[in-house]
Amino acid sequence: MRKILLLHTGGTLGMAPSGEPASLAPGPFLELLLEQVPELGQLAELAVEVPYNQDSACLEPANILALARRVRDAARDFDGFVIIHGTDTMAFTASCLGFLLPDLGKPVVLTGSQRPLAFVRSDARSNLVNAVDLACRAIPEVGICFGTHWLRGVATDKLSVSQFEAFESPNLAPLAEIGAEIRLHPEVGQFLRQVPAGLGGDLDLNIHTVTPHPGMAWFPAPAGAKAVLIQAFGAGNLPMDRADLVAFLEDCQLRRLPVVVTSQCAYGGVDLSAYELGRKIEEMDGISGGLHTRWTALAKLGLVLGAGGGIAETREAFRIAWAGEPMPEGAWPQA
Ligand code: ASP
Repeated sequence: MRKILLLHTGGTLGMAPSGEPASLAPGPFLELLLEQVPELGQLAELAVEVPYNQDSACLEPANILALARRVRDAARDFDGFVIIHGTDTMAFTASCLGFLLPDLGKPVVLTGSQRPLAFVRSDARSNLVNAVDLACRAIPEVGICFGTHWLRGVATDKLSVSQFEAFESPNLAPLAEIGAEIRLHPEVGQFLRQVPAGLGGDLDLNIHTVTPHPGMAWFPAPAGAKAVLIQAFGAGNLPMDRADLVAFLEDCQLRRLPVVVTSQCAYGGVDLSAYELGRKIEEMDGISGGLHTRWTALAKLGLVLGAGGGIAETREAFRIAWAGEPMPEGAWPQA
């Protein structure tokens, strides 16, 4: 039987019926799992650890780095990993782990649920069974298993607050379709691993993120910001006729802050050459986020900054796929 390490980090799945985050030690949590979902014991030999137990809104960079370290350290002893995580920031953790563990050679499956395991009507049971099943399959991918899909971590976003199909990878076909059978994508596990050497020691999230709206006033990035992430309109448009926006970008240039542009749209990505406005952003050193989701862009930028990188390193980072994230020139067919 495959040996799977299940890391419980909190979120809705383990919550008590009262809505409290049940404070669970590893032993009682494993007991609860096997009592509620006994079939897990037929799928794998499970070990459980609880590195932390919190609402994922409270996620900090140190949590993610610790998770990555634990998985790496345990890789010799286990065949696969399941990480139970709150859904709110699961896509971000999955993006970070996709970049931190691309060479692990074993499956890392993140999952969670919209309703606690303790509820009668809950997606927790099926998500757990599917996640453990996938973790037993020796596929070298970091992905989110939720509802009827397994999605590559560096391509996902949470798109629904309450639907059981909460996640999508809008610009990449799923790693697996989960129905009566698990149908894997023919190229699952096959992607170039080219995370630059020296990354992963730190995740620096001193990043000023901006989601503009029409008529918004632009103020300079706060002191202490080391980079800017703008979630622009459509293909990467901003109102470049506004003097305060131009002043904002000039200030970034002066302070040598990398400025990355992603899109407010989930499907398709940023192409700064598509419109006059985008070309002006490019002329002011804006870097196209291409098909990176907001979470994948944040993870990449945080890792570049964490390694002491600046504008040149950021530009290079967004030019290539580090770990199978979708790129404009196309890897897999669109979702
Ligand atoms: N607020 C919860 C969390 O992200 C939501 C969930 O788990 O679904 O921890």
